[in-house]
Amino acid sequence: MLIPENQRELAVEVVEKLRTAGFEAYWAGGCVRDRLLGRAPKDYDVATGAVPDEIRRLFGRRRTLAIGAAFGVIHVLGPKGAGQVEVATFRRDAAYSDGRHPDSVTFSSAKEDAARRDFTINGLFYDPIADEVIDFVGGRDDLQRGILRAIGRPCERFAEDKLRLLRAVRFAATLGFSIEAETLEAVRKMAAEITVVSPERIAMEMREMLASSARAEAVRLLVDTGLADAVLPELTTGEPIEPILAVINRLDRPGFPLALASMLYGLVDTAAARRACNRWRLSNKEADRVGWLIGHFDALDDARSMRWSALQPIVVAEGIEDLLALREAALPGCPEAAYCRSLLERPPEKLSPPPLLTGDDLHEIGVPQGPKYRLLLDRVRAAQLDEEIHTRDEALELVDRLMKET
Ligand code: ATP
Ligand code: MG
Repeated sequence: MLIPENQRELAVEVVEKLRTAGFEAYWAGGCVRDRLLGRAPKDYDVATGAVPDEIRRLFGRRRTLAIGAAFGVIHVLGPKGAGQVEVATFRRDAAYSDGRHPDSVTFSSAKEDAARRDFTINGLFYDPIADEVIDFVGGRDDLQRGILRAIGRPCERFAEDKLRLLRAVRFAATLGFSIEAETLEAVRKMAAEITVVSPERIAMEMREMLASSARAEAVRLLVDTGLADAVLPELTTGEPIEPILAVINRLDRPGFPLALASMLYGLVDTAAARRACNRWRLSNKEADRVGWLIGHFDALDDARSMRWSALQPIVVAEGIEDLLALREAALPGCPEAAYCRSLLERPPEKLSPPPLLTGDDLHEIGVPQGPKYRLLLDRVRAAQLDEEIHTRDEALELVDRLMKET
């Protein structure tokens, strides 16, 4: 568990130590932005003139991790609750030939380090000792006015690293900022190129956007900029997007599968939804959930008149909370969800009584192995749930009858 105050203290201590050793050092990027917005930063990044070897020597090998040392990044580990601080040497990025990563990095100055960052609001430094913001890129004004603006020429910056296209939408939506005109034009123009970014990384951005309470705005921007055509083409049918936005807006802190299902349920079938999940390399568990939600959306239409044996497997399924949340968001005030919630209040032995018979029982009484097994067990289970039978003997009797029928 991270404690915001401990994280902050560690980040101050890291800067102090670098300064005492004679190096320039500041908080950098997202943490400066978040503090100026009055939000607690998720984590702290420090930018410094010290090179990785010097950083490691200063903080000691035991307190540091050097996984990113080639890019000038050393992680300094803090005490309990403080997490870690990413300490990065000021750098300039060389050419980006793959549309995602710089070919190499060169250590340089604070000013050049600000210029290689993506958006002005992410290009600020802060000196926590002097309590002073260092702004080479006009980020403070943009932050005050609520403007998301690329640093430098937008087209060039998006061409270097296409992930920035999605980051633009994410920051604009989650911060409630408007995208500056030239930056927005560049996002629109280059949207289709987002596909050079790995599906896993795209999914990571989508996950963050949909987890945010600004998820409807994020989706609106994705569709509006053309990014949705490339990352989630299922969504762009030519139909107005507003009804979908209203649905995802009504969700309360949805997990990723629920958020996805809430956009796709009226548009695609289970198989197509699973294909979308596979495209993003989601786990089977998440893909199964999305597929299940879409496949069962209509299954609750008749919840109040269904036999318990038909409804019970849905109500006891792992995804039921998501399914109910989906129906409530899609059909506000729908009585079926409330009805199912009342069923979920039943005591466990009523909701999901232990089966009267198992495969072993069938084996014992000499039912030949085969597809019939499942069929018989299902019939017995249904009769039990519908309270047509109550005991093991009645269950065996039923099996006997069913065997004679066939
Ligand atoms: P979040 O709250 O999502 O963590 P963040 O701004 O801290 O937002 P990070 O991905 O943690 O984002 O990156 C930290 C900083 O590194 C950013 O603020 C930005 O200055 C810089 N940065 C990150 N990714 C890029 C990128 N793709 N291109 C340019 N600069 C980037
Ligand atoms: Mg961050």
